[in-house]
Amino acid sequence: MGLARDSPCFLPSDFGPIEWDIEDDPQVSGDSGDPLDPQTGTSVTLTVTAPAADTGRAFKLNYRIRAKVTIEGATHYGDWEPIIQDDKDQLRQIYIDTGYSPVPSRSSAALVTAGTYQNPGNLSFEELSCNAGSYCGGHAYQLNNTVATVFQSVRNQHGGPIIVNSAYRCPRWNIHEGGETNSKHTQGNAFDFDNGEAPQNWAVAQSAMNAEVSTSKILLYPQSGSYHDLQWFIDNGYNGTNLPPGWTTYRFGHVTTSTD
Ligand SMILES: [Zn+2]
Repeated sequence: MGLARDSPCFLPSDFGPIEWDIEDDPQVSGDSGDPLDPQTGTSVTLTVTAPAADTGRAFKLNYRIRAKVTIEGATHYGDWEPIIQDDKDQLRQIYIDTGYSPVPSRSSAALVTAGTYQNPGNLSFEELSCNAGSYCGGHAYQLNNTVATVFQSVRNQHGGPIIVNSAYRCPRWNIHEGGETNSKHTQGNAFDFDNGEAPQNWAVAQSAMNAEVSTSKILLYPQSGSYHDLQWFIDNGYNGTNLPPGWTTYRFGHVTTSTD
């Protein structure tokens, strides 16, 4: 580049090395840690030293940087310049913070925005959505691996609306909701539905089976407590009106949309 850093027209030849200060940006909320500094030279590397955040954090890691140089005994400072994590890395950081894996790669085609997401017909970006409120810090990106296409084939089998009450969940929201660690929801490979009472939710489960989702990946939940998979209900002779002892309803259901 043609910057005149070394030019005698602008600087005397005896100026000291360029030093760089990097710190947590005090003008942006959230503690992003204190990077190692100062560094010296014409280029600088920011090594992120984010504080531990076991449940993720609701802000983008943010720092600020400035250069300084000493000329004839006087130190001159450049302006502070912001360094802030982008939307994609903000989401990826939640996986790193929480130890969820795999961490989606920056080039993953499953990382979609409202602009790039392709609604297969009946699952909008908002319906796919993780909690978009302040708890997570909002998500410009979400993960859609298999959830949208499989949802749509179930919906087509069903021939009517399926109420999705949870599809994609970031790890932070999944932990908040008490989901299983590395839940399929956090990879964009699951959705939960609730069409009402037992007969309605049984019918959705049947539609998922008819859409060739494995009966081991279709779950139904009682009024409280733990689920069984659809194969268990079938094997034991239960259905939409004949429920297991102690079960008063199928409160909601879950479909894992990946085959792994
Ligand atoms: Zn979230």
